Amino acid sequence: MNQPARAATDRCPGVFDTHPAADGALARVRLPGGRIRPDQLEVLARAAADHADGHLELTVRGNLQMRGITDVEAVAAAVVAAGLAPSSTHDKVRNIELSPLTGRIGGIADARPLAAALDDALRADPAAASLSGRFLFGIDDGRGDIAARRPDACAVLRTATPLAADISIGGIAVGSATGPESIVSALISVAAGLGEVSPGAWRVRDLDADARRRLTDLVASALDPVIDDDTMIDDDTVIDDDTMIDDADAAPSTPGEPIVGWFDQDDGAVLLGAVVELGRLPARLAEFIAAVQAPVVFTPDREILLCDLSEGVAETVVRVLAPMGLIFDAASPWASVSCCVGAPGCASAHAPVRDDLVARVQDGDPVAEREHWVGCARGCGSPAESHLSVEATPDGGYERRRR
Ligand code: SF4
Repeated sequence: MNQPARAATDRCPGVFDTHPAADGALARVRLPGGRIRPDQLEVLARAAADHADGHLELTVRGNLQMRGITDVEAVAAAVVAAGLAPSSTHDKVRNIELSPLTGRIGGIADARPLAAALDDALRADPAAASLSGRFLFGIDDGRGDIAARRPDACAVLRTATPLAADISIGGIAVGSATGPESIVSALISVAAGLGEVSPGAWRVRDLDADARRRLTDLVASALDPVIDDDTMIDDDTVIDDDTMIDDADAAPSTPGEPIVGWFDQDDGAVLLGAVVELGRLPARLAEFIAAVQAPVVFTPDREILLCDLSEGVAETVVRVLAPMGLIFDAASPWASVSCCVGAPGCASAHAPVRDDLVARVQDGDPVAEREHWVGCARGCGSPAESHLSVEATPDGGYERRRR
């Protein structure tokens, strides 16, 4: 039996459809794969400085958002002019997570063209406009970082020649596809099938067992058998929605390990990974990052990657931008803690979460595991991986629990 359609409205914000938060309008800019050109970042930085609260917030899907917007139309016009919102009808459905290091460090193959092809196909599909802004696509280049997050529809590369991938639904591999077109088509078929088996469902997790089985059958009927079954993820893992944000010699190999510090790319260039306090990138700092004139990637763990640098440029970047607030130290607490906006920015918050998290970090108590602080049970922006949730309670305290 189908799950009843969701009664509530999907209030995920976009560029054209902002969210009325307590601190003003909030707009979210989708960056498929977390990728952005420097000129585009410069436009967003200026918009944040001129028409919002002067920051770009990093979200748990590698997107950016602006808060406290005073001129929604001006922000939308700037985002459109930068080519970051190419379709008003499909603005909120371009939720594509991509292995952040793909094409530069490790991975079975460069998955960036696949993400671009999926974005193109999504925008060309009129039916995709009705997809929930919460539905998440994933493209994993074989290292397992995106598959571990259990996107609604995910392609996990298995071979480079020919390009072949396992296709998973909510973390469960259901078949395999060969060739970019077939892989993209399989991912789109999961989204289309969701609406077919359960009209109104936002995500795969909204389905009951019967609807999920029918969706699996529908998608798998057009696929080859699974190439490898290690994309199966423990069903006990809890994943939350994105509702709202030391140097190392080798690339992180374990999902969840921070991509923070100095990394050597496979082609000999340098990749710098950094974080910022509270996941809030000041507009002025964003302008300086854009001035480096290098490709930038925002990761689902709220990291900022500056890519394809020469050693000399990378050294200059660290020397100039670290004093401005870009943190290149993987041992920094800010590489392991995150939070929602809390009070007063959100009317639902029981506490000024940002202030409390800053105080927690300044206290100097070691951060032994990833922590995410939230102002209420909704748990906005919670990391996909296992973490310690620190949730404000109505009595003024905080409750800690592992999620
Ligand atoms: S978790 Fe609660 S307090 Fe925090 S942003 Fe979401 S709704 Fe607001």
